Amino acid sequence: MLPKLEYSSPKTLEELFEVLEKYQEKAKILAGGTDLLVSLRDRVEKARHLVDIKKIKELDRLEYRKGEGLIIGATVTLRRILESQLIREKYPVLWEAVKTIGDVILKNRATLVGNICNASPAADSAPALLVLEANVRIVSKEGSREVPIDKFFTGVKKTILRSGEVVKEVVVPEPPSNSFGRYLKMMRVWSEDLAIVGVAGLGYREGRELRVRLAYSSVAPTPLRIREAEEAFTRDGTMEERIERAVQVASQRVSPISDVRGSAEYRLNLVKVLTRRLLKQMVEVV
Ligand SMILES: Cc1cc2nc3c(=O)[nH]c(=O)nc-3n(C[C@H](O)[C@H](O)[C@H](O)COP(=O)(O)OP(=O)(O)OC[C@H]3O[C@@H](n4cnc5c(N)ncnc54)[C@H](O)[C@@H]3O)c2cc1C
Repeated sequence: MLPKLEYSSPKTLEELFEVLEKYQEKAKILAGGTDLLVSLRDRVEKARHLVDIKKIKELDRLEYRKGEGLIIGATVTLRRILESQLIREKYPVLWEAVKTIGDVILKNRATLVGNICNASPAADSAPALLVLEANVRIVSKEGSREVPIDKFFTGVKKTILRSGEVVKEVVVPEPPSNSFGRYLKMMRVWSEDLAIVGVAGLGYREGRELRVRLAYSSVAPTPLRIREAEEAFTRDGTMEERIERAVQVASQRVSPISDVRGSAEYRLNLVKVLTRRLLKQMVEVV
């Protein structure tokens, strides 16, 4: 059962900042609630006041502007992202990652911003946002700041967000032209589950050279982009040698743990298998 909680649903950011100032760390922001309500029920997190952001219109933007990119507001649900043909075509790695999160009912409520603010190492949208080099727009009573997503996560369930700060939206820049993106996720069951390991890849041409970006979920305390593996792939050699070098470097940079979903050893093996599979697809398609 949930503990007894106060509740408010402000209609503007200013009203939201007032509530956050009043209750400080005793207030919790409620978006879809699919992570938060479970944590409160299980007494993993404590709160006195739930502040529901769903009525704040400014947080509801889902917009694409040519040259600037895609803006995903804090209350945009996973379902709205999946329904966007533009995101499916222009940001397929993000679309694929979102598709793997939970079931239909969950997607109707859960938000992408909630997925990153929850900061689980297994957050499926995070590797996609990492290879797309997204930025996180943060607002508070004091003003606003924009942070690259690879600086956002600081530990298991920890982010750079300070007391009184709220993520307003995520900004995903225009991907490199003719890029190809994929998210491969290994689960215990082929319906819905957290990732045992997830790998996002983005491949594109710089002149004639094939470049790749690689990021992972469930292999370290935070979602992780592995630039050293990307660099290993760009060095000389046959395509097969380049892929194997990237696979080896990626497997040396991860620090998986054992849990109910799989052992550290199994995860390490999956990093190799999925990275190899992804890079082979990049080489064929890009
Ligand atoms: C059955 C089930 C299956 C799931 N499957 C998956 C899965 O396959 N993959 C996966 O990655 N996740 C999964 N999840 C986790 C969860 O559904 C996602 O992380 C979801 O995207 C969270 O979004 P939300 O809007 O519900 O967040 P909420 O629960 O509302 O919030 C999550 C956290 O972020 C904070 N927060 C929310 N919005 C903001 C904001 N704008 N600014 C600052 N802080 C904010 C909240 O205070 C809370 O601490 C699953 C959960 C359940 C219950």
